[in-house]
Amino acid sequence: MRVGILGGGQLGRMLALAGYPLGLEFRLLDPVPDACGGQVAELMVGAMDDTYALERFCNGLDVVTLEWENVPVEAAKFIAERVPVYPPPQALEASQDRLVEKSMFARLGIETAPFLAVDGPANLAPAVAQMGTPAVLKTRRLGYDGKGQWLLREDKDAEGVAPFVVVPCILEGFVRFERELSILAVRSTTGETRFYPLVENHHREGILRVSYAPAPHVSKKLQSQAEDIAARVLDELGYVGLLAIELFQVDDRLLANEMAPRVHNSGHWSIEGAVTSQFENHVRAVAGLPLGSTEIVASSAMVNLIGDHPPLETMLALPGAHVHFYGKEPRAGRKIGHVTFVDDDESKLRKSVEHLQGLIQNHDVSYTARKTS
Ligand code: AMP
Repeated sequence: MRVGILGGGQLGRMLALAGYPLGLEFRLLDPVPDACGGQVAELMVGAMDDTYALERFCNGLDVVTLEWENVPVEAAKFIAERVPVYPPPQALEASQDRLVEKSMFARLGIETAPFLAVDGPANLAPAVAQMGTPAVLKTRRLGYDGKGQWLLREDKDAEGVAPFVVVPCILEGFVRFERELSILAVRSTTGETRFYPLVENHHREGILRVSYAPAPHVSKKLQSQAEDIAARVLDELGYVGLLAIELFQVDDRLLANEMAPRVHNSGHWSIEGAVTSQFENHVRAVAGLPLGSTEIVASSAMVNLIGDHPPLETMLALPGAHVHFYGKEPRAGRKIGHVTFVDDDESKLRKSVEHLQGLIQNHDVSYTARKTS
């Protein structure tokens, strides 16, 4: 079976690496000639709004999936007329616009932060007055890793951010969450569905730094609440593939923040920490193969390598460490790899994470510069 992937970054690379043992073949489409997925799979270089490139890309493929949630919906629809596309284009439509996404959650009875549409600078002050502060202003489209987001501590902060509302935005009430969690769900073309255990995520500057899997102190009730949220979204979108939903935990409630219609950074631990990784299960799902178990093999923690990394030898010497480089050149703020620790002793896991974070902070020049400035 020949699988096409829209996007050739690290997620496409890890999908291909997971699919090869099953005898699948991969072709990636990316506008960038040195996309790191091209080191492990056939890479076609082309723009995603170029129908000629899309036509060539589809030729000979059995199924197409994606690793980038900003694939133009029109491109996914164009391909879907030729080859099955999973997840379906409507999942992209829902996830690319925060207002559409949050409205869908609300329609499905899924709790979110309170939100209001802000269509232009003139709407901002009335929206802030209605919502109250603190609040978070976000662009409706193309925000990621904390980009395109502004925290309004008090009403008068609206003046300072008004110039950014040249694109449609959404204003959200600030959620005083206890922690951030994510639920990963996977559904195959046959309808078979599985859920991974909730994951606890730690962000800094809007970027995921560490995930613990399974999230500690999760009751059966909380896990089933998360699964119920994911199941509603899967049903609504006729979803096939892996879906990630980021959640805020407030007491014993879960609020949906956003979804990603693709394999997710908070699921990288599953390569070593679960019986079947998110990558393999996504590939199985879109290929119509039976899904694998989503049970954990042991507790694990994943640490992102961002901007730069300590020497490989140093990281490999840490107990239980599995290092994954993505084949990307180090650059400030860029995700260039991750390390997963697997150990049933949670205190050892936390120590390993702290140790590695210490090494990363010593090593990352940009981080040190920020800290001392
Ligand atoms: P997002 O791009 O929506 O995932 O937001 C990035 C990060 O900003 C989240 O992981 C949270 O840590 C924080 N954040 C986003 N929205 C809110 C909110 N409404 N209230 C509090 N924190 C938020």
